[in-house]
Amino acid sequence: MPTFVVQEHHASHLHWDFRLEHDGVLKSWAIPKGPSMDPADKRLAIQVDDHPLEYADFEGTIPEGHYGAGRVTIWDSGDYEPLEDMAAGLKKGAFSFVLYGERLQGEFSLVRFKKGDDPQSWLLIKRSSE
Ligand code: MN
Repeated sequence: MPTFVVQEHHASHLHWDFRLEHDGVLKSWAIPKGPSMDPADKRLAIQVDDHPLEYADFEGTIPEGHYGAGRVTIWDSGDYEPLEDMAAGLKKGAFSFVLYGERLQGEFSLVRFKKGDDPQSWLLIKRSSE
């Protein structure tokens, strides 16, 4: 199974970087409030540049004067299981997957929405389990 990682990033604004391994890279979203296990929370997730797979292990401090300066720690990681074709889901702006992390477990969806005219805005939503 492919892997996911969530990195807590104390940059100028605290956020959590949510990354899914796909097609040899880490597809990445910055989540200002962090992921939630509560299906009532729809968390804004701004898609950012793909990162190399090796970045999944990164913890440390990005120095002052560099993009994203601040401390990075791994908040959660594990395998994930796509529930549909990821490439098609990324293109259409909606897809679901199961996370097998320590903090994040179960089915989630990422859904793109139009916030103004910004195509990078998505919502990360925990699906409720019956
Ligand atoms: Mn970041």
